[in-house]
Amino acid sequence: AQVRFYASPAQEAVAKFKGQKGPDGKYTVTLIEGDGIGPEISQSIKDIFEAAKAPIKWESVDVTPILKDGKTAIPDDAIASVRRNYVALKGPLATPVGKGHVSLNLTLRRTFNLFANLRPCRSIAGYKTPYDNVDTVLIRENTEGEYSGIEHVVVDGVVQSIKLITREASERVLRFAFQYAQSINKKKVRVVHKATIMKMSDGLFLNTAREIAKEFPDIEFDAELLDNSCLRIVTDPTPYNDKVLVMPNLYGDILSDMCAGLIGGLGLTPSGNIGDECSIFEAVHGSAPDIAGKGLANPTAMLLSSIMMLQHMGLHDHASRIQKAIFDTLAEGKTLTGDLGGKAKTHEYAGAIIKRL
Ligand code: NAD
Repeated sequence: AQVRFYASPAQEAVAKFKGQKGPDGKYTVTLIEGDGIGPEISQSIKDIFEAAKAPIKWESVDVTPILKDGKTAIPDDAIASVRRNYVALKGPLATPVGKGHVSLNLTLRRTFNLFANLRPCRSIAGYKTPYDNVDTVLIRENTEGEYSGIEHVVVDGVVQSIKLITREASERVLRFAFQYAQSINKKKVRVVHKATIMKMSDGLFLNTAREIAKEFPDIEFDAELLDNSCLRIVTDPTPYNDKVLVMPNLYGDILSDMCAGLIGGLGLTPSGNIGDECSIFEAVHGSAPDIAGKGLANPTAMLLSSIMMLQHMGLHDHASRIQKAIFDTLAEGKTLTGDLGGKAKTHEYAGAIIKRL
């Protein structure tokens, strides 16, 4: 049976996609190929979409940062492209470690106010992991928390990083979590928090959740401490299958990588950065500099992100067709990339998917 992997038809109500079909019957989508393995995995997606006759025209943009008013910024052309097209597919962008660099990923999220980071995590049939029944959805607040970028030196040897939580951003992501739960027929929303320790900041997030929950009487709501969630998910992920988890930024970043580990690693986990106007879809993983340029990268995570993108755009038939070809290829297990224990090069794996379209 064809399962809608990441969304149901009602998801369109959440997505509010505004893009227009061009005279050639195609939607233009911004493509940010990214750094490291980005161009290799982007090529696989372009090849597979072309073979699948998906009605997408890629508009590649360069996001090499520029200096604007003394700060690193995204080139205006790239910003205009995403604003015009409402959706973008993005490869990983490397962030140099250390001072003085603003993360481009964070900049993109802030520029377009992509307030919810949607990270579904499902077991892949045919790829054996300790659990074969994982089906979690994790939604991460995407604009503030510890990632607000407010850091300063107090005195030599002492720095402060400010964790910022606002009712406005909390409300937005929490309401999205409830709406998303409704759209994929999950009956429960769980907030993950540390309000026992961060009484004011996580307390505000949790109390806001309790308020928003009243707007959705058909959805059960509860809350769990982050440390308990970590322990329980790795012990037995089954009780999390009927829930949408929603949490502040940092917790979502870490917990979603942990969930990725449960289903076979970063090569398999997609995400969507959702905003009211634009949305940017990307793999959870980074630029993998250790394997870049060698044809070893697994494009599945970015491919599944592109499936989420198609579903967000309401292009469900194309999404289902490509998705089936991906899962059949993985389930067959003959043409897998190295991270999944196979020997296939990136383009060989993409070729196997194309044969199944
Ligand atoms: P990473 O996710 O790039 O790599 C971690 C490990 O997973 C590596 O061993 C890598 O080879 C492997 N891996 C990742 N994706 C893979 C794939 N598709 N196929 C096969 N193996 C894969 O994490 P990192 O090394 O910590 O980060 C590298 C760079 O990426 C850093 O500059 C970081 O800031 C950036 N990054 C960007 C994003 C993003 O653009 N959203 C996310 C995370 C990290």
